[in-house]
Amino acid sequence: MSKQIIQSRNSLVSLSCLPYGTGHDREGICLLLTMGEHRILLDCGITNFPFLEDADSPTVEFVFCSHAHQDHCRGLPSLHQALPELPLYTSEITAKVLSLYWSDPAAISPITVPWRSQKKLSKNLTLELFPAGHLPGAAAILLTYHTQKRDYKVLYTGDFSLSNLQLVEGLSIEEMRGLEPDVLIIEGSYGTVRHPHRRQQEKYLMERIAQALAVEQNILLPVAPIGLGQEILKLLRSHHQFTGKDLDIWVDQTVAKACNIYLDLLSQLPASVQNFAKHQSLFWDQRICPRMSPFTKLEEISDGKLPCIVMVDYQNPLWEQLVSDWGDWMILLVEDPHNELAHDSNILDKIQELDYVTAETYLLAEHSDGRNTTQLIHNLRPQHIVFVHGSLTYLVELANLEELYNRYQVHAPISGNLVELTLSDRFVQPIKPIPAHYEGELNEVGSYITMVFPDSIHNDPRWNKFSDTGIIEARWQGNELILRGIPQRELLNSNSNPTVGEDIECCNSCVHYRAQRCWNPNSPLYEFKVIPEGYCPVFERRSQS
Ligand SMILES: [Zn+2]
Ligand SMILES: [Zn+2]
Repeated sequence: MSKQIIQSRNSLVSLSCLPYGTGHDREGICLLLTMGEHRILLDCGITNFPFLEDADSPTVEFVFCSHAHQDHCRGLPSLHQALPELPLYTSEITAKVLSLYWSDPAAISPITVPWRSQKKLSKNLTLELFPAGHLPGAAAILLTYHTQKRDYKVLYTGDFSLSNLQLVEGLSIEEMRGLEPDVLIIEGSYGTVRHPHRRQQEKYLMERIAQALAVEQNILLPVAPIGLGQEILKLLRSHHQFTGKDLDIWVDQTVAKACNIYLDLLSQLPASVQNFAKHQSLFWDQRICPRMSPFTKLEEISDGKLPCIVMVDYQNPLWEQLVSDWGDWMILLVEDPHNELAHDSNILDKIQELDYVTAETYLLAEHSDGRNTTQLIHNLRPQHIVFVHGSLTYLVELANLEELYNRYQVHAPISGNLVELTLSDRFVQPIKPIPAHYEGELNEVGSYITMVFPDSIHNDPRWNKFSDTGIIEARWQGNELILRGIPQRELLNSNSNPTVGEDIECCNSCVHYRAQRCWNPNSPLYEFKVIPEGYCPVFERRSQS
């Protein structure tokens, strides 16, 4: 008898999520969602599909692509080649933006779904799309599986942002409030980090560019070809620091091609952008200052006025061709935890060898921060949360938030691990927080302390660089013990460490401190949350103005 009651309360419909790619760090994202008899592929950021090789794998019926960033769409052509009949669903804008990558755009023709309208995929499965911010066309998808007893709903956010960007409005919580999904699959790119207001981030970047130009530094902005580049160009076009300024802005071909796609989509961009574009071209116009033009060769730039701003696709090898007779260069790299460039220390090392080049990072977030992520979750109140997209450390940080694991069933899976999403009418026991994945051991024998690190630490490529001298430095920061390897380079030019002067020198007053974290790749505290009780050997005071 009691068994029967439990059964009727528990979900009889099978709901699960199998990540083929979880979007950790550089990994693309691709999730197989099962709802009853249906198998839906959410995003396609991987190029090898396990279900194609395994004859026993269940058949995928539909693919949904949330937006046109490579980590979500790079596998679509090869999937289409293997399964040409498999229907692909996207928003109307994403279908157009995807053509950026394909030489023959007609080869794959997505089925487009207008915003906020229910599309029937089969007799018991519907799909609905909501604008997710982040990038024009980016969509959050609501899938509803209908049964006689009840509906089962899964919401996948894709990449999202609640803040209004320059060229796309943020995801609307208002619009989502009544959706009541049972399962929420949500990105956690920035973990629990809190960001300053978007307008502040924009202001900081514009000021930094203006300062560098004022001391005759040329600016190089490596960006992902679509999204960030156009955001910055729109800012340079419209920000009071730059309007009317006698300045050349050069845009490489890949980024320029994406700009042209935006121009084609103008009628679907926010009203403020359409108004702006009534009076002047959004991008290309040589008559209006600052002048903005596409370029193919470096010589074109040197013929123009210096210092100038050059924007390139981050994969463009222009890095190595920066010429010193044009003066000094400032390279500005975005602090996007998903950006491959900011994390490629080889490139950074190379840059730092050139004495006429300096590199700095800036924040212009296209993803929601920790506060906005939890805000969206509490408005949706799902039973299950599946965190994807971001570094595993960040995702685990989110999953370990008490406000989340006490109320919801929280998952932060790794690729290949199936997440069963069992539903029940009442709240089940909160599951224990997921242990942090860096688990070491500490042994104290007399005055010796030995630390044993797990494989995940010394298999990491950073381990080799950690201490090429074999010397480590240990220091307390609050209640945490910070370990830092001393690299050879530092021993060779060992300056005395900065001392605490009359003014307080601490992470808070360092140029690399933003959103509670350290963003200096050379600091032992890089990407760590820091507190204003100390500073690291590479502390750099922020200029007081
Ligand atoms: Zn994206
Ligand atoms: Zn992404």
